[in-house]
Amino acid sequence: MRLFALLVAAFFFINSARAEISVNLVVAQGPNSLTREEADSLFNAANMQVTLQMGEPLVLKKYRVISNPFPEEQKKLSKRLRLLRLWDGWFKRRGVGADVNYAITPPFEDGGLYWMAGYSEGVCKKNGTAYSTAEMFNNYGAPRFEHSLVAFLHELGHIVGGEHEDSNTLMHADALARTERMKKIRYSNQTSERIKKCLRKW
Ligand SMILES: [Zn+2]
Repeated sequence: MRLFALLVAAFFFINSARAEISVNLVVAQGPNSLTREEADSLFNAANMQVTLQMGEPLVLKKYRVISNPFPEEQKKLSKRLRLLRLWDGWFKRRGVGADVNYAITPPFEDGGLYWMAGYSEGVCKKNGTAYSTAEMFNNYGAPRFEHSLVAFLHELGHIVGGEHEDSNTLMHADALARTERMKKIRYSNQTSERIKKCLRKW
C-alpha cells in the first residue's frame, strides 16, 4: 500500500509540468521613463518571445506603476549594483512570492545622457530580483524600444536560467550593444534548453 502511494506521487510529480512563469512587475516612473501603455507593450512583446521559445507564458501576479523610489542612485551608473540590492529589498519587504521580481526603471541619467543598463540577482534563481532600464527614445531621438526589450529579456533570462554566451542572441554579455546585429530578438537554442531545464527544477 505504501509502495503504491509512492508510485502515485512520482507519477504526479513527473506530469506536473509548469504552466506559467509568474512575475511581480513594477514600472518606476522618472525622467524619460515608459508610460504605463508603453510598459504594457514592452511586457507583451517580451511575453510573446518567452511563450514562443519556452512554451510557458509570463503571467503578472502583481503589476504596479509607481514613482521611482531610488532616483538618486539612478543618476550614477556606478550605482548599478547597489540599485539591484535596493530593488531586491523593496520586493522582499512586499513579499508577493512570484517566480520573478522585476523592475522596469527609467534610464540612468548620468553626465547629461540617458544610459541603459540592467542587473539580475543570479542564474536560475526562483523568486529572484532583476531590473533593467527602458526608454522609447534616447537623447538624440533614436528609437530605443528594441534595446529596452533586449535589456528586459536578457535580465529576465538570467533569473530563469540563461547564462552568457558568445552569439548574437539575447544572452550575449554585451547584448545591448549588439541589438542592431541581431537578426531577431531571440534566445539561442542552447539558452532555451538551459531555461527549460531550470524551470523544470522550480
Ligand atoms: Zn548578463
